[in-house]
Amino acid sequence: MADIEKVIIIGSGPAAHTAAIYSARAELQPLLFEGFLAGGVAAGGQLTTTTDVENFPGFPEGVQGPVLMVYMRKQSENLGVRIRTETVARVDLSNRPFKVYNEEGTEFSSQTLIIATGATAKRLHLEGEDQYWQKGISACAVCDGALPIFRGKPLMVIGGGDAACEEASYLTKFGSEVIMVIRRDAMRASKIMQQRVLNNAGIRIEWNTIPKIAQGDTNLLSGVTVESTQDGSQRDIKVNGLFYAIGHVPNTAFLEGQLKTDSAHYLITTLGSTQTSIEGVFAAGDVQDKIYRQAITSAGSGCMAALDAERYLAHQ
Ligand code: FAD
Repeated sequence: MADIEKVIIIGSGPAAHTAAIYSARAELQPLLFEGFLAGGVAAGGQLTTTTDVENFPGFPEGVQGPVLMVYMRKQSENLGVRIRTETVARVDLSNRPFKVYNEEGTEFSSQTLIIATGATAKRLHLEGEDQYWQKGISACAVCDGALPIFRGKPLMVIGGGDAACEEASYLTKFGSEVIMVIRRDAMRASKIMQQRVLNNAGIRIEWNTIPKIAQGDTNLLSGVTVESTQDGSQRDIKVNGLFYAIGHVPNTAFLEGQLKTDSAHYLITTLGSTQTSIEGVFAAGDVQDKIYRQAITSAGSGCMAALDAERYLAHQ
């Protein structure tokens, strides 16, 4: 029979590696599944899709997101964490020890689980989106906005929340004009963020509008057909960049409803701890946090999850 692990950690962002570092130092010999493009994100998580991180303490000059994640992974490895570059396809939480299965169906057993699978940016799956994905269409202005294909060109941002306002403002550094496409006649964003975009001469807002078709030549996006939500009329807008800023989906589908989630599928944890709806299963990072969503808060909850798992094991 396969060994029973003390703790299996699923994920590879700041939450997973902090949980791994703490549980390794507590001599729990953690096994970590970092995923293989799980949820469309490379091992290392969302920070691998960005450049400068200037708000993670300890780096007075800032640090590149991918570099920070290499450091975290290295620290885990140095402490003896066993890392498998595999995606967890499913888990069975109905009995103890818990069962974890990779995509080949290989079974692993563990007394505790820490779920730190993060979240993935939402896409609209417009007609033409697959053809122009990464050829003009992106879900990350911060990562891709500075690319030569966007410089001096009209760019479109989809969404009306804080993230969309932030991304639109950011893109004015690169685009000739930024067009925000908003489905209603109002934004969801906070007042301060709304003011920021409304006062920015580089941003034009198309209210009551939704994108329908991404167009271009064989290589690059050159326009988007949009539709009025009021009268259904369609027209083309010339843009060379289309950036989605419509939120994130927490990576919880592989749990197949075995843990309690909220209506947006974020894992629910007990206030003040990382305990999920099943004892011995803990959740950390963006997969259980739709409010803060920062590297440092993810790392903090990863620490909490490791301490919670250690205490749980000590009580068994
Ligand atoms: P994630 O970073 O989301 O990582 C989760 C990992 O788990 C992913 O690699 C995923 O592939 C993997 N995974 C998912 N499902 C499975 C599975 N079934 N099996 C195995 N692995 C799985 N925060 C800051 O503090 N400062 C910043 O400057 C900053 N900039 C950002 C810029 C961008 C463009 C983005 C998108 C985010 C930024 N953030 C920033 C937010 C920060 O990246 C996240 O809050 C943080 O990465 C969340 O960490 P996490 O550990 O919860 O999960």
